[in-house]
Amino acid sequence: MEHIQCLIIGSGPAGYTAAVYAARADLKPVMYEGMEPGGQLMITTEVENYPGFPTGVQGPELMAHFREQALRFKTDVRIGMATKVDFNSTPKRVWIDNEKEITADTVIIATGASAKWLGLESEIRLRNLGGGVSACAVCDGFFYRGKEVAIVGAGDTACEEAHYLSKLCTKVYMIVRRDQFRASKAMQHRVQTTPNIEILYSSETQEVQGEHVVEGALIKNTITGDVRQIKIDGFFVAIGHQPNTGIFKGFIDMDEQEYIITQPDSTKTNIEGVFACGDAQDKIYRQAITAAGTGCMAALDAERYLAAKGH
Ligand code: NDP
Repeated sequence: MEHIQCLIIGSGPAGYTAAVYAARADLKPVMYEGMEPGGQLMITTEVENYPGFPTGVQGPELMAHFREQALRFKTDVRIGMATKVDFNSTPKRVWIDNEKEITADTVIIATGASAKWLGLESEIRLRNLGGGVSACAVCDGFFYRGKEVAIVGAGDTACEEAHYLSKLCTKVYMIVRRDQFRASKAMQHRVQTTPNIEILYSSETQEVQGEHVVEGALIKNTITGDVRQIKIDGFFVAIGHQPNTGIFKGFIDMDEQEYIITQPDSTKTNIEGVFACGDAQDKIYRQAITAAGTGCMAALDAERYLAAKGH
């Protein structure tokens, strides 16, 4: 069985930053990339707020830089997904792709978060068919130029994406489940004053229509009970994210939304030798730069933990 000093699970900004620091500290980190190598930035276009790139950078290009830097210090980056863990034992046990078992002195969890879906049968079916259901307007909005679309959600993400879509599409329906937004006042104002965004308050989606591609949606007003059909070609969902922490349940303390709880001013979890960074433990900031920052912290915490244990 393979034994590793520092195992990093996940390959977004948090995981790669942890890798750079751990490798330079000679912890010989091994990283398993997970299901979406590079994480959420791989499905982003322009990133304008990552310091060090004064004219902006494309998300995939930024992740290529992260990767190159981690490889330069000899991080062992592997394809594969952690599918099961046992954190009760020392060293920690982790299974990759349901078969390979690894033991590790330290584990850095950097598994990030994934977009949430409404859970409607029609939504999931059309999403799986690639038929016009998406959780990323910036990635897929381009395909709906000159067409009509809908977006569900009332947070900052939904407002930002609705505004983005309004520049490409002739019309954007914004489906808001309450009679008010959750987004900041500035973002609300932006969508409320954009002429081709129609906000449907107190509304829920009953069905996304279309056999192979999106053709429309049935929207119910939850106050009047009226159901309205809208004709659309694209259906976007922007209702928040779910941290990818399922395999750690039962071992690692989490909050009610399944974000990992870390000790104040550190990346330590309730389990000695297991550290968490990035969106898997951050529901507040959720930025590439904050993920990278906590990735750095996780590697430093792992290094200090190992030093204290006499490794
Ligand atoms: P949020 O959790 O803030 O908002 C999710 C929205 O989706 C809410 O309006 C919620 O409705 C709605 N929603 C949730 N579930 C459903 C459902 N089943 N059906 C219909 N609607 C649903 O997520 P965001 O991704 O918008 O933002 C996450 C964090 O990132 C926030 O802190 C936000 O401020 C931040 N952010 C900041 C940006 C910026 O400053 N530029 C840009 C993007 C994000 P309800 O309100 O009724 O609960």
